[in-house]
Amino acid sequence: MALRAPKWHVHAACRNADQEHDWTNAEPGSKAATDCKETCRLCSVRLTCAITALITDESYGVWGGMDQVDREALRHAAAQIAA
Ligand code: SF4
Repeated sequence: MALRAPKWHVHAACRNADQEHDWTNAEPGSKAATDCKETCRLCSVRLTCAITALITDESYGVWGGMDQVDREALRHAAAQIAA
């Protein structure tokens, strides 16, 4: 059975973004991450993308305008609130 991309992927701004950016390996604080985040800022599926990365515990790259450091900070803040 072939894997299918979620329907929201067709609306992803990064689908048509500059392919020079390495979305999956952009290091936090790098120019690549900054450039990816700029594209995310105007993406119509940003929230869905960010939530997907958080619930799947994505460890690499920029998703929903967040790099792994941003996601970790959000997880830490959520844990603090829940405690
Ligand atoms: S939020 Fe960013 S990484 Fe997610 S689909 Fe949109 S452009 Fe791509």
